[in-house]
Amino acid sequence: MPPTAVPPPINVKLLLIGNSSVGKSSLLLRFSDEQWLPEEESSATIGVDFRVHKMEVNGKRVKLSIWDTAGQERFRTITSSYYRGAQGIILVYDVANRESFEALPRWYSELETYVNESVVKILVGNKVDKEFSRQVSTTEGQTFAHKMNSLFIEASAKTAVGVNDVFAELVQKIMDTPELWDADANRGGQNTAHGNGGVPGGVQVVGLNLNQQEQGAAQDGGCAC
Ligand code: GDP
Repeated sequence: MPPTAVPPPINVKLLLIGNSSVGKSSLLLRFSDEQWLPEEESSATIGVDFRVHKMEVNGKRVKLSIWDTAGQERFRTITSSYYRGAQGIILVYDVANRESFEALPRWYSELETYVNESVVKILVGNKVDKEFSRQVSTTEGQTFAHKMNSLFIEASAKTAVGVNDVFAELVQKIMDTPELWDADANRGGQNTAHGNGGVPGGVQVVGLNLNQQEQGAAQDGGCAC
Protein backbone atom coordinates (compact mmCIF):
# COMPACT_ATOMS: atom_id res chain seq x y z
CA MET A 1 0.00 0.00 0.00
CA PRO A 2 1.50 3.43 -0.94
CA PRO A 3 1.74 5.84 1.98
CA THR A 4 -1.14 8.32 2.10
CA ALA A 5 0.01 11.79 1.04
CA VAL A 6 -0.19 14.28 3.89
CA PRO A 7 -2.18 17.29 2.70
CA PRO A 8 -0.33 20.59 2.97
CA PRO A 9 -1.35 22.86 5.83
CA ILE A 10 -4.03 25.44 5.27
CA ASN A 11 -2.54 28.92 5.19
CA VAL A 12 -4.41 31.49 7.21
CA LYS A 13 -3.50 35.16 7.39
CA LEU A 14 -4.43 37.12 10.51
CA LEU A 15 -3.95 40.84 11.12
CA LEU A 16 -3.65 42.91 14.25
CA ILE A 17 -5.06 46.42 14.17
CA GLY A 18 -5.95 49.10 16.69
CA ASN A 19 -4.47 52.28 18.11
CA SER A 20 -0.81 52.59 18.89
CA SER A 21 0.28 51.22 22.30
CA VAL A 22 -2.78 49.08 22.97
CA GLY A 23 -0.50 46.02 23.05
CA LYS A 24 -0.72 44.50 19.57
CA SER A 25 2.96 43.56 19.35
CA SER A 26 2.89 42.34 22.94
CA LEU A 27 -0.07 40.04 22.23
CA LEU A 28 1.71 38.63 19.20
CA LEU A 29 4.96 38.05 21.13
CA ARG A 30 3.08 36.47 23.99
CA PHE A 31 1.22 34.12 21.70
CA SER A 32 3.97 33.13 19.29
CA ASP A 33 7.09 33.34 21.43
CA GLU A 34 5.48 32.96 24.88
CA GLN A 35 7.39 36.07 25.72
CA TRP A 36 6.69 39.28 27.59
CA LEU A 37 9.00 42.26 27.40
CA PRO A 38 8.74 44.29 30.59
CA GLU A 39 7.25 47.74 30.02
CA GLU A 40 10.57 49.49 30.52
CA GLU A 41 12.20 47.33 27.84
CA SER A 42 9.56 47.75 25.18
CA SER A 43 9.32 50.98 23.27
CA ALA A 44 5.91 52.35 22.25
CA THR A 45 5.87 49.74 19.53
CA ILE A 46 8.09 46.71 19.58
CA GLY A 47 7.69 46.51 15.84
CA VAL A 48 7.22 42.83 15.19
CA ASP A 49 6.41 42.34 11.50
CA PHE A 50 4.84 38.95 11.44
CA ARG A 51 5.06 35.54 13.01
CA VAL A 52 4.28 32.10 11.68
CA HIS A 53 2.53 29.71 14.02
CA LYS A 54 1.30 26.19 13.37
CA MET A 55 -1.70 24.61 15.00
CA GLU A 56 -4.24 21.88 14.40
CA VAL A 57 -7.97 22.58 14.19
CA ASN A 58 -10.71 20.03 13.42
CA GLY A 59 -7.97 17.54 12.53
CA LYS A 60 -6.51 19.90 9.91
CA ARG A 61 -3.07 21.44 10.03
CA VAL A 62 -3.22 25.22 9.93
CA LYS A 63 -0.32 27.54 9.32
CA LEU A 64 -1.01 30.99 10.63
CA SER A 65 0.86 34.04 9.49
CA ILE A 66 0.05 36.78 11.94
CA TRP A 67 0.83 40.32 10.91
CA ASP A 68 1.50 43.27 13.13
CA THR A 69 1.25 46.85 11.90
CA ALA A 70 4.78 47.57 13.11
CA GLY A 71 3.71 51.07 14.02
CA GLN A 72 2.14 52.12 10.71
CA GLU A 73 -0.98 53.19 12.61
CA ARG A 74 0.94 56.03 14.28
CA PHE A 75 0.93 57.78 10.93
CA ARG A 76 -2.75 57.03 10.41
CA THR A 77 -2.00 55.20 7.23
CA ILE A 78 -2.19 51.48 7.01
CA THR A 79 -1.58 50.45 3.45
CA SER A 80 -4.32 48.53 1.68
CA SER A 81 -1.82 45.76 0.94
CA TYR A 82 -1.63 45.04 4.67
CA TYR A 83 -5.23 43.90 4.56
CA ARG A 84 -4.98 41.91 1.37
CA GLY A 85 -5.79 38.22 1.66
CA ALA A 86 -6.59 38.29 5.40
CA GLN A 87 -9.11 35.80 6.73
CA GLY A 88 -9.10 37.00 10.32
CA ILE A 89 -8.73 40.37 12.02
CA ILE A 90 -7.81 41.01 15.63
CA LEU A 91 -8.98 44.48 16.67
CA VAL A 92 -7.31 45.54 19.89
CA TYR A 93 -8.10 48.27 22.41
CA ASP A 94 -6.75 48.93 25.88
CA VAL A 95 -9.38 48.52 28.63
CA ALA A 96 -7.55 51.20 30.61
CA ASN A 97 -7.60 53.70 27.75
CA ARG A 98 -11.02 54.93 26.68
CA GLU A 99 -9.66 56.75 23.65
CA SER A 100 -8.46 53.46 22.18
CA PHE A 101 -12.00 52.06 22.54
CA GLU A 102 -13.56 55.16 21.02
CA ALA A 103 -11.25 54.84 18.03
CA LEU A 104 -12.76 51.46 17.13
CA PRO A 105 -15.45 52.75 14.73
CA ARG A 106 -12.66 54.21 12.62
CA TRP A 107 -10.88 50.84 12.53
CA TYR A 108 -14.08 49.07 11.60
CA SER A 109 -14.72 51.52 8.79
CA GLU A 110 -11.24 50.75 7.43
CA LEU A 111 -12.22 47.11 7.43
CA GLU A 112 -15.38 47.89 5.50
CA THR A 113 -13.20 49.49 2.85
CA TYR A 114 -10.53 46.85 2.62
CA VAL A 115 -11.85 43.43 3.59
CA ASN A 116 -14.75 41.22 2.70
CA GLU A 117 -17.66 40.91 5.11
CA SER A 118 -17.05 37.21 5.65
CA VAL A 119 -13.61 37.85 7.16
CA VAL A 120 -13.77 36.86 10.82
CA LYS A 121 -13.22 39.59 13.40
CA ILE A 122 -12.41 39.39 17.09
CA LEU A 123 -12.42 42.41 19.36
CA VAL A 124 -9.84 42.18 22.14
CA GLY A 125 -9.89 44.31 25.28
CA ASN A 126 -6.21 44.06 26.29
CA LYS A 127 -4.44 44.96 29.57
CA VAL A 128 -7.06 43.47 31.91
CA ASP A 129 -4.28 43.21 34.49
CA LYS A 130 -4.79 46.98 34.91
CA GLU A 131 -8.18 46.37 36.53
CA PHE A 132 -7.58 49.24 38.96
CA SER A 133 -7.47 51.76 36.11
CA ARG A 134 -10.09 50.22 33.83
CA GLN A 135 -12.01 52.77 31.72
CA VAL A 136 -14.07 50.40 29.56
CA SER A 137 -16.32 47.80 31.18
CA THR A 138 -16.55 44.23 29.96
CA THR A 139 -20.23 44.70 29.13
CA GLU A 140 -19.49 47.75 27.04
CA GLY A 141 -16.84 45.87 25.07
CA GLN A 142 -19.11 42.87 24.63
CA THR A 143 -22.07 44.97 23.46
CA PHE A 144 -19.97 46.81 20.92
CA ALA A 145 -18.43 43.59 19.59
CA HIS A 146 -21.88 42.10 19.20
CA LYS A 147 -23.05 45.14 17.27
CA MET A 148 -20.04 44.85 14.99
CA ASN A 149 -20.61 41.15 14.39
CA SER A 150 -17.32 40.27 16.07
CA LEU A 151 -16.16 37.74 18.61
CA PHE A 152 -15.06 39.28 21.90
CA ILE A 153 -12.48 38.51 24.52
CA GLU A 154 -10.60 40.34 27.25
CA ALA A 155 -6.93 39.52 27.63
CA SER A 156 -3.60 40.55 29.04
CA ALA A 157 -0.38 40.17 27.11
CA LYS A 158 1.36 40.81 30.41
CA THR A 159 -0.18 37.94 32.42
CA ALA A 160 -1.09 35.82 29.35
CA VAL A 161 -4.74 35.67 30.44
CA GLY A 162 -7.00 35.10 27.43
CA VAL A 163 -4.22 35.35 24.85
CA ASN A 164 -4.34 31.79 23.51
CA ASP A 165 -8.14 31.97 23.47
CA VAL A 166 -8.01 34.99 21.15
CA PHE A 167 -6.23 32.96 18.49
CA ALA A 168 -8.00 29.67 19.17
CA GLU A 169 -11.49 31.20 18.86
CA LEU A 170 -10.62 33.24 15.81
CA VAL A 171 -9.02 30.35 13.95
CA GLN A 172 -11.82 27.99 14.94
CA LYS A 173 -14.38 30.34 13.42
CA ILE A 174 -12.28 30.73 10.26
CA MET A 175 -12.10 26.96 9.93
CA ASP A 176 -15.87 26.82 10.38
CA THR A 177 -16.16 29.18 7.37
CA PRO A 178 -14.73 27.11 4.48
CA GLU A 179 -15.38 29.82 1.89
CA LEU A 180 -12.46 31.67 3.50
CA TRP A 181 -9.88 28.96 2.89
CA ASP A 182 -11.26 26.11 0.80
CA ALA A 183 -11.07 26.56 -2.95
CA ASP A 184 -13.78 23.92 -3.41
CA ALA A 185 -16.19 26.04 -1.41
CA ASN A 186 -15.50 28.89 -3.84
CA ARG A 187 -15.80 26.96 -7.06
CA GLY A 188 -17.57 28.92 -9.75
CA GLY A 189 -16.16 32.19 -8.45
CA GLN A 190 -12.56 32.26 -7.28
CA ASN A 191 -12.95 35.26 -5.07
CA THR A 192 -15.22 35.75 -2.11
CA ALA A 193 -18.26 37.99 -2.50
CA HIS A 194 -16.67 41.33 -3.34
CA GLY A 195 -13.38 39.82 -4.40
CA ASN A 196 -11.72 41.58 -7.26
CA GLY A 197 -8.18 40.44 -7.11
CA GLY A 198 -6.65 42.56 -4.40
CA VAL A 199 -7.98 45.91 -5.46
CA PRO A 200 -8.95 47.78 -2.26
CA GLY A 201 -12.50 46.82 -1.48
CA GLY A 202 -11.98 43.25 -2.59
CA VAL A 203 -10.52 40.25 -0.93
CA GLN A 204 -8.63 37.36 -2.45
CA VAL A 205 -8.93 33.71 -1.80
CA VAL A 206 -5.99 32.79 0.41
CA GLY A 207 -2.78 31.89 -1.28
CA LEU A 208 -3.39 33.76 -4.53
CA ASN A 209 -1.16 36.72 -5.21
CA LEU A 210 0.77 36.61 -1.97
CA ASN A 211 3.34 39.36 -1.85
CA GLN A 212 7.00 38.40 -1.61
CA GLN A 213 7.29 38.50 2.14
CA GLU A 214 4.19 36.39 2.56
CA GLN A 215 5.48 33.89 0.05
CA GLY A 216 8.50 33.56 2.29
CA ALA A 217 6.21 32.92 5.25
CA ALA A 218 4.19 30.42 3.33
CA GLN A 219 6.92 28.69 1.40
CA ASP A 220 6.95 25.28 3.04
CA GLY A 221 3.23 25.18 3.51
CA GLY A 222 1.81 24.97 0.02
CA CYS A 223 -1.35 26.69 -0.98
CA ALA A 224 -4.73 26.02 0.50
CA CYS A 225 -6.38 26.58 -2.81
P1 GDP B 1 1.32 48.32 20.11
O1 GDP B 1 1.79 49.70 19.75
O2 GDP B 1 -0.17 48.24 20.04
O3 GDP B 1 2.00 47.23 19.35
O4 GDP B 1 1.65 48.10 21.66
P2 GDP B 1 2.91 47.41 22.36
O5 GDP B 1 2.80 45.93 22.30
O6 GDP B 1 4.15 48.04 21.83
O7 GDP B 1 2.66 47.84 23.88
C1 GDP B 1 2.59 49.20 24.27
C2 GDP B 1 2.91 49.28 25.76
O8 GDP B 1 1.88 48.62 26.50
C3 GDP B 1 4.23 48.59 26.14
O9 GDP B 1 4.84 49.37 27.16
C4 GDP B 1 3.77 47.25 26.69
O10 GDP B 1 4.68 46.74 27.66
C5 GDP B 1 2.44 47.61 27.34
N1 GDP B 1 1.50 46.48 27.35
C6 GDP B 1 1.15 45.70 26.31
N2 GDP B 1 0.28 44.76 26.69
C7 GDP B 1 0.05 44.96 28.01
C8 GDP B 1 -0.78 44.29 28.98
O11 GDP B 1 -1.49 43.33 28.73
N3 GDP B 1 -0.75 44.83 30.27
C9 GDP B 1 0.02 45.89 30.59
N4 GDP B 1 -0.02 46.31 31.86
N5 GDP B 1 0.81 46.52 29.70
C10 GDP B 1 0.83 46.06 28.43
